[in-house]
Amino acid sequence: MFAPLLGKPGSSKNNKTGSWRSFLKPKYLQKNCIACGLCKLICPESCIEGKEKNTFRADLAYCKGCGLCSQICPKKDIEMIKEQE
Ligand code: SF4
Ligand code: SF4
Repeated sequence: MFAPLLGKPGSSKNNKTGSWRSFLKPKYLQKNCIACGLCKLICPESCIEGKEKNTFRADLAYCKGCGLCSQICPKKDIEMIKEQE
């Protein structure tokens, strides 16, 4: 019944959020990480990978640059930097 109103279903892979990220992106320093996993837990895009200390990183193809990961990191190991850097 609603089919004419809906477009074709897309997936996050087809609609990469990185194409409209804010002017900031996270830089994982990978120096003081304690593998607490908080950044991974809070990321609204679920685009953070990593398990061991100093291995966490964001997949920028999906990151929106919201900065939540940087804010929550207890070791200040994630910097938000300008997109060009
Ligand atoms: S800036 Fe936001 S969207 Fe990007 S990795 Fe961090 S929490 Fe996820
Ligand atoms: S929040 Fe910080 S310390 Fe915790 S896993 Fe992420 S980068 Fe490592």
